[in-house]
Amino acid sequence: MSRVNVMQPWLGEEEVAAVSEVIRSGWVAQGPRVAAFEDAFAASMQVPHAVATSSCTTALHLALLVAGVRAGDEVVVPSFSFIATANAARYVGARPVFADVDPVTGNLTPATLAPVLGPRTRAVVAVDQGGVPVDLAAVRALCDPLGVVVVEDAACAAGSTYRDRPVGAGADVAAWSFHPRKVLTTGEGGMLTTTHRDWAERARRLREHAMSVSAAERHTSVLAPPEEYLELAYNYRMTDLQAAVGLVQLGRLPAVVERRRTLAAGYAKAVAAVEGLRLVQDPPYGTSNFQSCWVEVLPGYPADREGLLRALAEADVSARRGIMATHRQPAYAHVETGPLPVTERLSDHTLILPLFHQLTDSEQSRVVDVLARPAGRS
Ligand SMILES: *Cc1c(COP(=O)(O)O)cnc(C)c1O
Repeated sequence: MSRVNVMQPWLGEEEVAAVSEVIRSGWVAQGPRVAAFEDAFAASMQVPHAVATSSCTTALHLALLVAGVRAGDEVVVPSFSFIATANAARYVGARPVFADVDPVTGNLTPATLAPVLGPRTRAVVAVDQGGVPVDLAAVRALCDPLGVVVVEDAACAAGSTYRDRPVGAGADVAAWSFHPRKVLTTGEGGMLTTTHRDWAERARRLREHAMSVSAAERHTSVLAPPEEYLELAYNYRMTDLQAAVGLVQLGRLPAVVERRRTLAAGYAKAVAAVEGLRLVQDPPYGTSNFQSCWVEVLPGYPADREGLLRALAEADVSARRGIMATHRQPAYAHVETGPLPVTERLSDHTLILPLFHQLTDSEQSRVVDVLARPAGRS
């Protein structure tokens, strides 16, 4: 019996060939492959502009900068998210303010946002947590009239849909992750997408030290034009090696999402027959890529979350505790927050089930057997 991992990227010979080609070309840093990946990603996500970055964390940082968030502003974020969401606010000197989340989707809603929006709120970072699309139109209906920019943290959500379009398509600016824990990977990597041409142009500059002439332009011209550095900026570039992998992965995305949704439906069917477990599901207004397929362990279940994790480990199944609560981390001990009861409950009582493209039906059955009978197994 071999171990069942919680997540495994789906990489193959096409990625190997694509990277080899880049190495043979002699151009490995940000160049033509990055440009091609940006174009393909923008087309696929139905957005006019895409700017590749070194990670989603750096894309979030740039998103807040181009959205005009400044030191002293407040940025509302869910605590129920990977810590990068809140960290981005601090990178620009803003104060992160935590909002609670909806108990069903794990996402921000107008109801959870309303109590924490204030006169200093400059932006809201709305996460498509675990791939479940946030109800962006509802959030924007609240924020737009207040002049509050909504940044979509779509780190988990490539291949998820919102009102029959890709997630992120309706956002002023969105940030994406290509870490191997997500459904489309470039090793490390990210993307910023935006509907504003000027925001895209500024993000492109900020990712390479605000140089007036891009590195690619400089290196392709024999007599390089002199460059100027227009403002304080960063090196947040993606490499052509990563972009070559990303182009292949983007082609795989529909098949990956289809398989993930089939496997999630398998879990849903099994869990429906088990008293005391609730599986995350599609909201009425969209579809999830099930990047994180989590179950909530309710009081009627024969084990608690830790007990279920142990039972799975005994069957050599690697599951993970649910999404973190950022406000409980030492790095946020100094940040005052109001009560976040749903965040704490979901963080304490959920776990993420194994789900990846290559997971076999028999491996999934092993997981389901434990879910059905966590105690008294021999
Ligand atoms: C993974 C993740 C990030 C960070 O992505 P990186 O590419 O690793 O920087 C940010 N936000 C959310 C919601 C994530 O899940």
